[in-house]
Amino acid sequence: MKLFTTSNPKILKGEKLAKPVRTLVLHLIPHTLNGLGVNLCPGSTSACRRGCINVCGHGGMTRKDGTNTCHNARLARTTLFLTGFQTFKEQIVREIVNHVRYCNKRGLRAAVRLNGTSDINFADIFRDVMEAFPRVSFYDYTKVSHYWIMWHNGEAPKNYHLTYSMSETPQSHAFAARVLNSGNLVACVVKATPKQALPSYFNGFKAIDGDRHDYRPDDAHHGGAYVLLRAKGPMRKAWGVESGFVHELSVAATKTAYAV
Ligand code: SF4
Repeated sequence: MKLFTTSNPKILKGEKLAKPVRTLVLHLIPHTLNGLGVNLCPGSTSACRRGCINVCGHGGMTRKDGTNTCHNARLARTTLFLTGFQTFKEQIVREIVNHVRYCNKRGLRAAVRLNGTSDINFADIFRDVMEAFPRVSFYDYTKVSHYWIMWHNGEAPKNYHLTYSMSETPQSHAFAARVLNSGNLVACVVKATPKQALPSYFNGFKAIDGDRHDYRPDDAHHGGAYVLLRAKGPMRKAWGVESGFVHELSVAATKTAYAV
């Protein structure tokens, strides 16, 4: 079983950038779906669990008999992570070594996203792995404010980048304001069709179309900015906006509609 995947369509867009980047993504089974009583998404909310990226794309393809091969693979990786950590870690390192060789041969930048469908403090538990590959760019999105604070305070490895991912709670909105005002990135889900152009300003801040590619370290130069992501999968239903997780573009395209 491979631990990393590279086939996610949005991730593949990185290979078309002016400075192409190839990203390995680790997809575990999120929050408490591991069945071992461990919550791998401590900052998750009811809305993000309901519309989780785990149930979008291939993850949303459940067969008539109820099986989902994508979720089964994520569960198997997660079981190894939780019950055979050293074996898991050694395989992670081997796959990154191969990734670096592949990228070097083709003139690609090498990146790794460990929290494809989880929210674990990898900057802490895989610090040595990140430091062993100083030329590899590790990046994640997080809903956990203290992971972001740790990163912002310079306590994470230098080759790690974190984007704060806003949820529907007032606490998350307030923390997002702090992140934006400190000149950093906040991911925000908006109601928009796949082909709809996104505004360049949102809620008083610069906005980036986060669906163009996934590699956020390239966006760090924008300063405080929203990374707008179109609602996908179950999030597109009415409850997405009603829950406060998905934002209407019409409400907040240019003015400040949420506290910042
Ligand atoms: S934090 Fe991310 S991966 Fe975890 S449940 Fe929420 S959307 Fe899914």
